[in-house]
Amino acid sequence: MDRLEKMLVDIRAFVAEREWEPFHDPKNLAMAVASEAGELLSELRWVKGEDADAHCREPEARRRVADEVADVAITLLMLADRIELDLPAEVHRKLVKNREKYPVEEWRGR
Ligand SMILES: [Mg+2]
Repeated sequence: MDRLEKMLVDIRAFVAEREWEPFHDPKNLAMAVASEAGELLSELRWVKGEDADAHCREPEARRRVADEVADVAITLLMLADRIELDLPAEVHRKLVKNREKYPVEEWRGR
């Protein structure tokens, strides 16, 4: 079992133990992704762009940011799982599409 499959097994168990599946329709999960992304963003609100790397290395802020990054990942994985997307395959497919949209010769450094 690879790490992604292990995460899915753990997430499915967490949800099943709480009988939360009825709440996890695709619309609710998409809202949960956006909500958790908002929580992640709130950790960096008012931090100047040039200070953001240092902020994310500061231990207490790092823990809060890591919590929200994990929440975004968990909710996104739940959504992909619910609608039966093969997430690694979709990421690969989208990167191919993005490479065509943003050719290196045209987009390097800009
Ligand atoms: Mg959160």
